[in-house]
Amino acid sequence: MSEILLQTHALTKQYGHQKAVDNVDIHIKKGAIYGFIGRNGAGKTTCMRMICGLAKPTSGDIEMFGYSGNELTKVRSRVGCLIETPGLYPNLSAQENLKLKCKLFGINKKGYTEEILRKVGLSDVGKKKTKNFSLGMKQRLGIAVALLNNPKLLILDEPTNGLDPIGIEELRELIRSFPAKGITVILSSHILSEVQQTADHIGIIAGGVLGYEGKLNANENLEQLFMDVVKSNHREG
Ligand code: ATP
Repeated sequence: MSEILLQTHALTKQYGHQKAVDNVDIHIKKGAIYGFIGRNGAGKTTCMRMICGLAKPTSGDIEMFGYSGNELTKVRSRVGCLIETPGLYPNLSAQENLKLKCKLFGINKKGYTEEILRKVGLSDVGKKKTKNFSLGMKQRLGIAVALLNNPKLLILDEPTNGLDPIGIEELRELIRSFPAKGITVILSSHILSEVQQTADHIGIIAGGVLGYEGKLNANENLEQLFMDVVKSNHREG
């Protein structure tokens, strides 16, 4: 599992005078679940938005699947992302939402939306409109949308936000199942216990700076590590 699927080189995003992401070099191995952690405003979402192509870096490079610069467009379709709230049509059912997205992506495969709904544990929601979904159901459907183009890299921004403990556990199981299906995962969170139980590698970002990156060992004192990194990169976010 040593092949690097994605790396950034001095990735930077500046808003006015503030460097929201400051010279970040991350390294994501193929088959990893990479937990990207940091306080509120640390720069996690901004970094993920740039990786997904939703925000343009001020400077620096992103390299994934061996491509970088203008050639990144060739591999964007291998990336699925759920950043902030998933864009769903509230008056449509889960199935209808997915069918519509399939049309937009030019996917025409019989039984495909049923297969994806099964993957995320939503095969029994029937005709219920998504506006009546619980938060956890909406998150699952958001992941289903991100999975539609059969991504090899899945980027999930705070996927367990607002979920109850059972919802978190279920989503954790789902996320943990992805590497075996050939999907590398980056997930952001500020909940350390969450990352500890899901990720096998971590990056800690503080004040836009990547203060630590490495393998997450089972006996790691993540809280202590996090505090040390945040304190040594002290800067208001
Ligand atoms: P959270 O855990 O609260 O979601 P985060 O680590 O994802 O935080 P970001 O959303 O990346 O943090 O924000 C990093 C910094 O960049 C913050 O200070 C934020 O206010 C700023 N920022 C983000 N987007 C913009 C924008 N479009 N314009 C100006 N500043 C922005």
